[in-house]
Amino acid sequence: MNYFPLFLNLKNQHCLVIGGGDVAARKIRLLVAAGGQITVVAPQLCEELAQAVVAGKLIYLAASFNESQLQNVRLVIAATNSEDVNRQVFEACEARGILINAVDDPASCRFITPAIVDRSPLMIAISTSGGVPVLARQLRSQLEALIPHGYGDLAQMASDFREEVKQTLTSVDARKQFWEKTLAGPIPDMVFAGQHDAARRALSAAIKTDANAPVQGAVYLVGCGPGNPDLLTFRALRLMQQADVVLYDNLVSAPILDMVRRDAERVYVGKKSNNHAVPQEEINQLLVRYAQAGKKVLRLKGGDPFIFGRGGEEIEELAEAGIAFEVVPGITSAAGASCYAGIPLTHRDYAQSVTFVTGHRRDGEVELDWPRLVSPTETVVVYMGVAQVEKICAQLIKHGRSPNTPAAMVEKATLSQQRIVVGTLSNLAQKVAELAIKPPALIIIGEVVNLHDKLKWRED
Ligand code: SAH
Repeated sequence: MNYFPLFLNLKNQHCLVIGGGDVAARKIRLLVAAGGQITVVAPQLCEELAQAVVAGKLIYLAASFNESQLQNVRLVIAATNSEDVNRQVFEACEARGILINAVDDPASCRFITPAIVDRSPLMIAISTSGGVPVLARQLRSQLEALIPHGYGDLAQMASDFREEVKQTLTSVDARKQFWEKTLAGPIPDMVFAGQHDAARRALSAAIKTDANAPVQGAVYLVGCGPGNPDLLTFRALRLMQQADVVLYDNLVSAPILDMVRRDAERVYVGKKSNNHAVPQEEINQLLVRYAQAGKKVLRLKGGDPFIFGRGGEEIEELAEAGIAFEVVPGITSAAGASCYAGIPLTHRDYAQSVTFVTGHRRDGEVELDWPRLVSPTETVVVYMGVAQVEKICAQLIKHGRSPNTPAAMVEKATLSQQRIVVGTLSNLAQKVAELAIKPPALIIIGEVVNLHDKLKWRED
């Protein structure tokens, strides 16, 4: 071990920074956040530091470094671009036992600063002992993405309750068990979802009923986008890595399913148009049953759970059964198809509004509010419309939309197998039939479709 890792309490401690440029400013931001009392010594200051001086956050000495400035100082940062000055500061500090860091100048450092992931009060520090700072920063980016922002709030909340837990559960083992169980249960997820009051109430109740009470399950209704795993949200990914049981259907692509925790139980509840594999009511009951058995249940939905996803029905049942649940938004397939096909859904010149409709009807008839969909400045996106494309186009023409209105079908949007058929209301159905387009696919209707040629992604 080349360096001893530590976290330093700098509250109200005098810190001296030599240098007034951007590098100094970066270090000063952290010193201020840690509550240090900072004096900056430099011939001049960058804009940010000048403003901090005006705001009363720093004391500024427009001077060069000299040893008299080290009186009562606990910690020094030399952020100059002169190794000679750094050396001079270093030697002066060493003689007085003051901690000194010279930025990017290891020879003049008593301590070095890590790359940090700040979820205060939780803090992760990463260091390569000064050898490869870029590597430490790369690792930090990965951790930033991996660790929910709510971890800080969770740490704060847990420490707020620490004393209460200590009073209620008197043995060290009981407390350890309590925290292990609580932090592996649904309370952290409530915090990450911003439900702080509910989390506090749940924690308070858990302390009272003791940690030995049965574990409560929870259901997460998670939108996982149109199929490309890169379009998952961080929240979706985190929940996928924690789930005990996953219920999924055919809109959830194989690469996405691969990202679910390996030992989670997988339950296929897929349905195809007119061929319901598992009836909705049964899915609802499954969710309730798994949660009641104390499981973390993930219900993965294609796109967004609340857009033609029957997400509302699923949580209604959970709410009735008193089960904790959370709904995580996903990129709806219309948004995915729009971007990946280069067809903006609105555009200042061509479309001022967009309507999402479903082309699916149990009895095969499409009943939509046609007069509302025929304005030439409106984009219409039809979900579940492959089988009905001919009827839909005919109805729009019949109700007054021009037969020459551009229209496109996007099949398997955002996936490597994506196909796009572009035509007009009068010929789209024929083109779709010729290419044997199959679900999942969306119809996009409106002048914006003309932009596809210009805005589509090119291979070269
Ligand atoms: N909740 C989903 C929609 C479910 S309805 C969402 O927000 O996207 C199912 C329909 O969504 C399909 O029939 C199809 O019209 C559309 N869809 C889902 N994924 C798609 C994809 N990758 N490409 C094109 N359409 C898709």
